[in-house]
Amino acid sequence: MTTSDRRSEALFRRAQRVLVGGVNSPVRAFKAVGGVPRWIARGRGSALWDVDGHRYVDYCGSWGPLILGHAHPAVLKAVRSALTRGASFGASSEPELRLAELICEALPSVEQIRFVSSGTESVMSAIRLARAATQRDIIVKFAGCYHGHVDSLLVQVGSGALTLGVPSSAGVPHAVTQATRVLPYNDLTAAGQLFQKEGDRIAAVIVEPVAANMGVVPPQPGFLEELRALTTRHGALLIFDEVITGFRLGFGGAQTQYRLAPDLTCLGKIIGGGFPVGAYGGHRTLMKWVAPLGPVYQAGTLSGNPIAMSAGLATLTLLQRRAGYARLEQLTRRLVEGVRTAAWSHGVPIRMNSVASFFTVFFTQEPVVDERTARRADARRYARFFQGMLKRGVYFPPSQFEAAFVSVAHTEQDIDRTIEAARLTFAELGTGRG
Ligand SMILES: *Cc1c(COP(=O)(O)O)cnc(C)c1O
Repeated sequence: MTTSDRRSEALFRRAQRVLVGGVNSPVRAFKAVGGVPRWIARGRGSALWDVDGHRYVDYCGSWGPLILGHAHPAVLKAVRSALTRGASFGASSEPELRLAELICEALPSVEQIRFVSSGTESVMSAIRLARAATQRDIIVKFAGCYHGHVDSLLVQVGSGALTLGVPSSAGVPHAVTQATRVLPYNDLTAAGQLFQKEGDRIAAVIVEPVAANMGVVPPQPGFLEELRALTTRHGALLIFDEVITGFRLGFGGAQTQYRLAPDLTCLGKIIGGGFPVGAYGGHRTLMKWVAPLGPVYQAGTLSGNPIAMSAGLATLTLLQRRAGYARLEQLTRRLVEGVRTAAWSHGVPIRMNSVASFFTVFFTQEPVVDERTARRADARRYARFFQGMLKRGVYFPPSQFEAAFVSVAHTEQDIDRTIEAARLTFAELGTGRG
């Protein structure tokens, strides 16, 4: 079953000279799983082809945006049509208005929205807005939650339950993270204690309503509800980072599924249909703080870009019309159960966390409920699993701590092929450790 990755290898080698680490985003370098990162020639539906001609069932989905799969005809058509009218105007055009209307209708907590060009930008801007509107500085985040590479949020927890922000990237001055607090996900006691101590200085709590960047970790019952109550009681804002969950959990987002209204919502990924997009929005009374209405400055040369807006519009329109979410969940359940059974039958301990159409295979015995328990997963074992799947034509995310995504383009045949690949891979992993 050895395959030749000659062309990927050659491109990757060439890329080391001019691209940092040969990539434009670190996890693409396959450092966590080893081996040659595959260079992709094209994608269609649920399939990816690398430059050596290997075909993969893709569960990376460009890290979340591709809920319709690759090169969906409706998205292609919208993009082609938009392109013939020009790539960017630096002035308003109709697609941004139509996408804004669609999103505001789908998310009741969002009355007004501002488009930006990435999820990182949306979070950065939402935080600026929250600090301005509350006249407070402290931002609370949860360990293991990722909100883009915003300086003040590039902070994880040290070890204890409640720590002061310590930067986890070089180049982030301590001064920048001084007003950041990090709590364990799903830990209401710690949240309560922090609010008791500093509640009147907290501008906002930002949370992934379903955590997906330490692998998938769902919120425990009551967690999000209590965050809503705590923030309201103390005059702080609640920010849902729905960059992944937006239009993934259902038409709308986690807030629609859990019937909760955050003050601010960050979006990205799916709403751009595979193009660079982000957005933040909320109640009119908050959004009016943003320029040109208010004193919070925020701008962007390519914000509301007509090509990205058209791709997003085509994606959301199709999702709204076809309501494919039930089938997506069904496919995902089939996959999760199949992989779990395959692991069991070969004595490989795993935990699978899944919500809607995204999931993570954790190589661990205990439930994964926060960053601490996620970090106990055996990342080296995941690497072997990843390689085993890859050589059998299944492309999982190249890290233990990422979510895998099912798209509407996946078929039952894809799922069954994946389960069969998992069976063979688990057989290889056997019952030994590491
Ligand atoms: C991907 C992601 C971001 C960052 O979005 P970019 O477009 O990569 O900047 C922010 N928050 C969450 C929850 C994400 O998954």
